[in-house]
Amino acid sequence: MHSQANHPQLFSFEFYPPKSEEGAANLQVVHSKLAALKPDFFSVTFGAGGSTRDKTFQTVVEIQTKGIAAAPHLSCVASTKDNIRAILKDYRDEGISKIVALRGDLPSGMMSAGEFRYANELVEFIRQETGNYFQIHVAAYPEVHPQAVNGREDFKNFKRKVDAGANAAITQYFYNAESYFYFVDACEKNGIDIPIVPGIMPITQYSQLFRFSEMCGADIPRWLRKRLEDFGDDRSSIQAFGLDVVTNLCQRLLDNNAPGLHFYTMNQSAPTLAILENISL
Ligand code: FAD
Repeated sequence: MHSQANHPQLFSFEFYPPKSEEGAANLQVVHSKLAALKPDFFSVTFGAGGSTRDKTFQTVVEIQTKGIAAAPHLSCVASTKDNIRAILKDYRDEGISKIVALRGDLPSGMMSAGEFRYANELVEFIRQETGNYFQIHVAAYPEVHPQAVNGREDFKNFKRKVDAGANAAITQYFYNAESYFYFVDACEKNGIDIPIVPGIMPITQYSQLFRFSEMCGADIPRWLRKRLEDFGDDRSSIQAFGLDVVTNLCQRLLDNNAPGLHFYTMNQSAPTLAILENISL
């Protein structure tokens, strides 16, 4: 039995903080539809450099108040220790106890690297400052982080975050299930037994997915890319095909003991709901 099988299967949904009133109204609807599924938590992204600091905070507190746990993402790049200390205090004061700890990517044009270089330093700092109060999730890259020197170094760097006190990891999205299986095998061989939850990106359109994947280093396998290209502007065929592909991916992951799924919802409920309706839980 794979060590990941020892963890319960947890489900979570990721949002970004809304940018407008219309976006906020949409998120309320999306949240209530997804909350009906009783996920273990919602998470809310954070703009590296602190650009969404207040909006992330506000969104997290609103979600938590409605009854299901909310986990803020917190990126440390371009931040000072005082800054992070203050953010942690604000969350603690609101009873928020889960956090997704990241390095983040410096927005172009922003120069200051701040007092943290890598996410393992953030995890270490959170533990130093707040002991075991926070349940810390970190990012994992089954297909290797795009800036990594090589796969081996990247894995060692992932282990640093676990050794610093991470409780769980959420992966970058992928469409090659094998990359995840090999990654969790490597974890097992290296004594890492925290849950490694697959990050799932529903497929709803091609050009945005392609752009995103180029930026974050997620591979769209050739067969999948070619099929999506063939659909051109035919949105409904892309969605039907995407639903089929991602449902199969999720089912395969769960059948092989993945400890749950984390959905990158892009603040939409329908694609995630459709996948979850299709898989037998
Ligand atoms: P790290 O773990 O620090 O790794 C970054 C790179 O540095 C890797 O190449 C690694 O191999 C290398 N490295 C790590 N530690 C060391 C070390 N000690 N010495 C030398 N090299 C090292 N971005 C946002 O801005 N906001 C978000 O809300 C957000 N949410 C995310 C959620 C998830 C689940 C995921 C998977 C990613 C998210 N990101 C977010 C993107 C993330 O910030 C980027 O992928 C970023 O480039 C790396 O962040 P990290 O925490 O994985 O960094």
